[in-house]
Order: sequence, then structure tokens, then C-alpha cells
Amino acid sequence: DQSQPKKPDWIRVKAPTSQGYKDTRDLLREHRLSTVCEEAGCPNVGECWSQGHATMMIMGEICTRGCSFCNVQTGKPNALDAFEPGRVAHAVQKLGLNHVVLTSVDRDDLDDGGAEHFAQTIRAIRHRSPKSTIEVLTPDFLKSKPGALETVVEARPDVFNHNLETVPGLYPTVRPGARYFHSLRLLQRVKELDPGMFTKSGIMVGLGEDRQGVLQVMDDMRAADIDFMTIGQYLQPTPKHHRVDRFVTPEEFKSYEKAAYGKGFLMVSATPLTRSSYHAGDDFARMRTA
Ligand code: SF4
Ligand code: SF4
Repeated sequence: DQSQPKKPDWIRVKAPTSQGYKDTRDLLREHRLSTVCEEAGCPNVGECWSQGHATMMIMGEICTRGCSFCNVQTGKPNALDAFEPGRVAHAVQKLGLNHVVLTSVDRDDLDDGGAEHFAQTIRAIRHRSPKSTIEVLTPDFLKSKPGALETVVEARPDVFNHNLETVPGLYPTVRPGARYFHSLRLLQRVKELDPGMFTKSGIMVGLGEDRQGVLQVMDDMRAADIDFMTIGQYLQPTPKHHRVDRFVTPEEFKSYEKAAYGKGFLMVSATPLTRSSYHAGDDFARMRTA
């Protein structure tokens, strides 16, 4: 797209070369695991993997949705792999992760949206690595039968994350098939089911939203009792994806961070390279000891 703004120098991405990066990559390959780090072409992969931090993506690499910012393939997914929870748990143990982030493609083809598979994976990780904290980043279960969300909550992840991704006005172009208020309500419901569970959500900026819209999303999130918030710059994975409207400056991110803390979030990450799972473990550990 000719009209794309030029990438500013604060979006710096180091090529992954370290031994730690390679070790993580080899272990994930050996266990035949997908990560959102690779699928999404995340700019932080060199840094995260060198520290043994990765976001596991379960339930296959084909998604039933087609969000315009996302590089995951859309189509008819494969059947669930009953051995996957065990493989994930094994890899988590081998990587020695203190904090695991577990996410998935959207599985509108399954009755429960994959809730039971999520729950099994959480339980398998708990069994092998009882000290690791677990964060799930789930789909919206919009088309699932009743009880799907409850199944995941009952498996007791430490953090329940579901991204709103953008302001409501951009949903038709950015997140078709999803509903803003459904996603908000999902997170509110998690808190109602288990008030001790931390809830988390995030958005990307630079998609065409304005500041007022972002502040409104913060208010909506707080009204739904969401504890943690992430805000990062949207980057276009390929020219076919949603265009970058603008690059939000580091100063604007700072000001979003300040505004979010002012609205009562317990933990906020707002920088150009913030991703839903970026430093999630460090931030969570810091918050718990604070
Ligand atoms: Fe993976 Fe998240 Fe790190 Fe990106 S920020 S490399 S998705 S763990
Ligand atoms: Fe990508 Fe998730 Fe949207 Fe599927 S639901 S296209 S994995 S962002």
C-alpha cells in the first residue's frame, strides 16, 4: 500500500540470533508446538525466545475467523489433537517457564469452542509444573454452547486474558465476526465466576482509532472489572492486511499508560512493541510481590 506511513525508528526489531533463541525454537519444534510468536511474526521473538518465553498456540494453525490484522490462516481447522495438552505441558516443564501464556485460534467449528481442550492443557501444565503461573488468552466463545467459558474458568488459570483488539467502531473492518460488547461481557463474567482471578485485555493502536476512543475503551474495561491492560502499535503483517493508519509516538503511549493507571488498572503495558504476552510473566511476578 503506497499510502502506508513510514516505519519510525522506535520500531526497532533485532534479528533473532542468540543461542537461547535457538534452544527455544528447537524445543518447540521437537514437541511440534505452534506459537503465536511465529504465526503472528511478532517483533519481540528474538528477545522473548532468548529468555525461554513463548506463547503457545493450541488447537491448530487454521482459524475459523479472519481478522484483518492477523496473519493466521483462515479455513476449516483440523481435528483436535488429544495428545497436545501433554506435549505443551512437557515443553513448559523443559523450558522451565515461571509463567506460561496459552492461546489458540478461534474454533467456531467446535461445540464448546475448544474450552475443554484449554482446560485439559491448563490441568496438564499444573500437573507437571505446579509452580508455574498460567495465563490464557482465549477466543470469544461467541458461537459456543453455554458453559464453555465456565469450563475454562473452572480449570483456574491465574490470568484470564481476552483481547478487545480495537475500538468498537472499527470492529466491522478489523474484527469481523466478533462483537465488542460480547467480549467485554465475557471478561466481566470471568470476574463474577471467580473474583480471585485476574482479568486482562488489550488493544492495538494505529488502526484508525482516535484518543477519545481509546480512553472510552479503558472506561469500558474498568466497568467490566478488567485488571490489566496492554496497548501496542499495530504492525501490518503483509500488504494484504489492514493498513497502518499511523505510528503512535512513544510519548502518546506514555500518556495512555498514565491515563490507564489513573482509571484504576492494576497493571498496564503501553509501548510501541507491547504485545498481549510481552513481559507478561515479569509484569505479573512484579505485581504479585508489590
Ligand atoms: Fe511471543 Fe508474546 Fe514474546 Fe511476541 S511478545 S515473541 S507473541 S511471547
Ligand atoms: Fe487471528 Fe484470533 Fe482473529 Fe483467528 S480469531 S483470525 S487467530 S486474531
